[in-house]
Formats: sequence, structure tokens, C-alpha cells
Amino acid sequence: MAKTDIHCHVNWLDMDIDAWAKHFTDLGIDRVFALGWEEWDRRWTGEYELPTEDQIEASQRYPDLFIPWCSVDPREKDVPGKIREYVKRGCKGFGECKIRLMVDNPDLKVVYRTCDELGLPILFHMDIWMPGVPHWYMMDLERLGPVLEEFPSVQFIGHGPGWWREMSGDADDHMTTAYPEGPITPGGRLPEMLAKHDNLHADLSAGSGLRGITRDPEFGRQFLIDLSDKLMYGTDFHDRALLDAIEGYNLPEDVYEKIMDGNSRKLIP
Ligand SMILES: [Zn+2]
Repeated sequence: MAKTDIHCHVNWLDMDIDAWAKHFTDLGIDRVFALGWEEWDRRWTGEYELPTEDQIEASQRYPDLFIPWCSVDPREKDVPGKIREYVKRGCKGFGECKIRLMVDNPDLKVVYRTCDELGLPILFHMDIWMPGVPHWYMMDLERLGPVLEEFPSVQFIGHGPGWWREMSGDADDHMTTAYPEGPITPGGRLPEMLAKHDNLHADLSAGSGLRGITRDPEFGRQFLIDLSDKLMYGTDFHDRALLDAIEGYNLPEDVYEKIMDGNSRKLIP
């Protein structure tokens, strides 16, 4: 059975393109979505970015393994032109979209419209504002609903702490906790929205995704089964913790196959 990891960046975590390719090959992963992350705010503060060019280079060196995605800061000039150019060079999706703008900001809607025109899925990182933490990316879940309805043929894939914290119905009681722990209260906005919106999907990557499906194992296993058409395996890291967690749940074969590969192939064959 083929396996796809939908969330990777090359030249990151002190690993170059070859090191990432070796990691995925050793793990038995057949294809990998290589995402950029370009954000103006980080350019001003001198923090690292993850250039789209690096992801394209990875796909040129390992064409059977890496599928490049493009990232353009929505505040740049001629964003549609830049995205179209990246698509001509092989990019198949837009992401990682991790920008300090509200998710329904008009500049972001230019990106969504362009993705609609080009048939690109969008992978976004959502966070919430917390005292002393400047990571309020793509806020928030409430504003996302109308966006999903305004762009019904664009496929959105959610990821990040501000996204996975909404697994539980009591998320609002923990507004200063990025990674809430412990049993899940029914009525979470995230499972509800995934069930409601055909064009909304979830990326299980990073500590936030892993915690989302393991903090309450009984709930987590059932969530994977109930929403198996909407969830995709991805790591955003270089370990096998998520793979072990998913395999540890002994899921029905068809559920496992959809999460590990089938769902991502519906978006990018
Ligand atoms: Zn990432």
C-alpha cells in the first residue's frame, strides 16, 4: 500500500534535501508534499522562511518522491501572477499558508480565488492569539465557515495548534493553552465543521495533530473512523510518532488506506 506524507519542508530542522529524501525512503513513504512558508513579517524580523524555490529544487532532484507546493505572502505585488508562474513550474498546491492575517482577509481571498482558478488545494496553519505569543496565524475557526461557503470548490486543509485545540467542546475554557491535554468534551467545533463542509479537510501533522488524536484515545480512534474521508497523514517532522499512533489504533483497513494515501490522491492524483 502506498503512503503519502502531506506536510514536509526541505532544508529545515538542519536537514537538507538529501537527508529528508533518505528519511522518507527509510520510513517507507512513497510521496511527499514539500511545502514552502513565506511570510513578510518574518522577513522584517529576520526569522527563517522556507522558500518555495527549495521545495521545487527537491522535486527536481527526487521527482518520484517530492511534490512541490508554493507559498506567496498575500501582501506581495501580483500574487495571482506569482502563483500561476509556480504552477507552470510544477507546484500542485498552495501552502503552507501561515500568515498573520485573519482567514477572511481580502488579501487572502485573492489567494483563494487564484487557487480556485488553478485547481490548487490550500493547506493553512491556524493559531489563536495568546498573551505574549505572536503566532496568531489565520484566525479563526469562526471566520473560516463563511470562507468555505464563499469558495465551495477550493479544498482547504487545516493544521496547527489553533485548529486542533478545537477538537474539544471546551476549547473556549482554555484560551491561554496552545496544546490542551486530557479528555475531549463532545461538541468540538473542529469535528463539526469537518462533517459539515465538503471542502474542508485536516492534516494530522505536527505535535498539535498528534495530540489532537491521542489526548483522548477512545475519542481519537472514533474520530479517525468517523471522519476518515477528511483526514490525511502528514508529519511536519522527522520521526515516526504519528505513524506509530495511527498504526497503534488498529484501524479498519479502508480507513487506514484513506488516511495514509487515498484522500490525498483525491486532491492530487
Ligand atoms: Zn509546516
